[in-house]
Amino acid sequence: MLLEVEGFILQETPYGETSKIINVFTKEYGVIGIMCKGAKSLKSKNRVATMHLSYSKFNIYYKKNKLSTLVSADIIDPLKNIKGNITLIGYVTYLTELTNQVLKQSNNYLIYDDFINTILKIETGLDPLVLTNILELKYLSELGVLFELDCCVICGGTTGIVTIDSDKGGFICLKCHTNEILVDKKVIQMLRMYYYIKIKSISTIKVSDNIKHTINEFLDRYYERYTGLYLNSKNFLKKLI
Ligand SMILES: [Zn+2]
Repeated sequence: MLLEVEGFILQETPYGETSKIINVFTKEYGVIGIMCKGAKSLKSKNRVATMHLSYSKFNIYYKKNKLSTLVSADIIDPLKNIKGNITLIGYVTYLTELTNQVLKQSNNYLIYDDFINTILKIETGLDPLVLTNILELKYLSELGVLFELDCCVICGGTTGIVTIDSDKGGFICLKCHTNEILVDKKVIQMLRMYYYIKIKSISTIKVSDNIKHTINEFLDRYYERYTGLYLNSKNFLKKLI
């Protein structure tokens, strides 16, 4: 079946001298493997549009559960700002690897919009750390380990939330608080907002450095403790930021 699909290239594997196989995350079909004959060659008109971390449109012979075959590919957005900045490449490489892992566990294609919009917002110059944390928080529910956003993880009470703790696994109220480090109220408000906000609708981001880093450290430890994921690209990113 001849198809036109748009998608983001999660992985690129060389095949023979001049060909490659790419794994593309698409909205309608999830991740599809595409054999791109000759696309590694410098003369190929499909070379750039089939590179790792590209957002492109593909004409393919689609074969369900098998390798599809590329007919042609065109770039949708060249992502120039990202590709010219090593830190942004670090973010996008991490988000791509993370998305690949999330898809292996949940197989929910609906995350496509959140994923692609995060990349496009990073490209427009919005804060990559905040966008990354927003996507990480949304992915926790795909991974089946999202903490309760409305109540204390220990007693279930909904009032007097004073902090958040990755070891305890969520929000903690004043009654249950023992020795956990207290956080600014805004951290709790922002975490809820991160989860509920539509990524596509974000046009500005105003989060103070202090709040931003507290949330990032919490999510980092929470991921380590509850998701079982270990991603090399995360360690690489940590060295860049
Ligand atoms: Zn409590």
